[in-house]
Amino acid sequence: MATRVLLAEPRGFCAGVEMAIKALTWMVRVFEAPVYCYHEIVHNAAVVEIFERAGVVFIDDIATVPEGAVVMLSAHGSGPEVVSLATGSAAVMVDAVCPLVTKVHHEVKRAAANGFDILYVGHEGHDEALGAIAQAPDSVTLVDPDRGLADFAPADPGKVALLAQTTLGQFEWQGVLDDAQTQYADVHTSRKSDLCYATTNRQRAVEILSQEATLLLVVGSENSSNTQALVRVARNAGIAAHRIDGPGDIEPGWLEGHDVIGVSAGASAPDQRVQSVVERLRPDNGVEIVRITQEDEYFPLPPALRKLIHALQALVEGAYASSQPGRPGPVDEDRDWGATEALEILSS
Ligand code: SF4
Repeated sequence: MATRVLLAEPRGFCAGVEMAIKALTWMVRVFEAPVYCYHEIVHNAAVVEIFERAGVVFIDDIATVPEGAVVMLSAHGSGPEVVSLATGSAAVMVDAVCPLVTKVHHEVKRAAANGFDILYVGHEGHDEALGAIAQAPDSVTLVDPDRGLADFAPADPGKVALLAQTTLGQFEWQGVLDDAQTQYADVHTSRKSDLCYATTNRQRAVEILSQEATLLLVVGSENSSNTQALVRVARNAGIAAHRIDGPGDIEPGWLEGHDVIGVSAGASAPDQRVQSVVERLRPDNGVEIVRITQEDEYFPLPPALRKLIHALQALVEGAYASSQPGRPGPVDEDRDWGATEALEILSS
């Protein structure tokens, strides 16, 4: 067993995930099941399972949603065609896209409108990459960070833009950026990094922690891009690292010979899972927090949902008054309650 655990801070839920989980919680508390959700609301199996038990049906093809249904679009962002199909057929449609994903969508559209050949650095088939590329499919080429620019031949080398999936590893982005700047002197990039604050902070915390720990366990799901990036950051720093969904995934052999074990979590992983992992490790010399910054980002609930709840206020007020247990927090005071509480409400 470990003698000491270093717990990364920040870790786990980011502002976008907080907003999306709370938004879907509102939807399942206000509307009868089923509530349809296009793509997993966030990439975490435990969170998805809680919502499925609460009556959410996750779908990957928006055309399969019945006419007149209640629909939410996931935090990863959706293409214009998906948004328009959902808007046209749903009785209620709320887009829970993270504002930082929306920022990249705007950049894609702006660069395409200005005649750039856009290189989008991301992971093929990832929900966020699909939504971003769909903003201007004729102008965008997906660049896998592991393959780099080899397959790209721009029409005009003077009009190349380089944009990115928000959850990339900094090391993945930097390699492609360096190559692009070497090959295309005038390459255009976003003024503010496309890699989001949550991704960057979690990676930096893992880098610091890797200076002392010899093993890192990252809580998060297989399909979570930022979780996988944390594993690779630790391995790049020269330590062993494994992704786990929870304590049950820890193989005893992994722990042998490691006195100091780091623990972190991807941006969509519930902190209860992290705490269970720490309990399973039972470190003799306790747990030390390795904090690199205090995050205070907050994203309000989607405007369509806020509008909807206000419109339904008279109806829902009685059933969802703030003193009643088992309800989401007030729509205008949602800084006072978190996604963790929302999941607890759904699980109770
Ligand atoms: S990881 Fe970043 S971009 Fe993705 S939901 Fe969280 S804050 Fe938004």
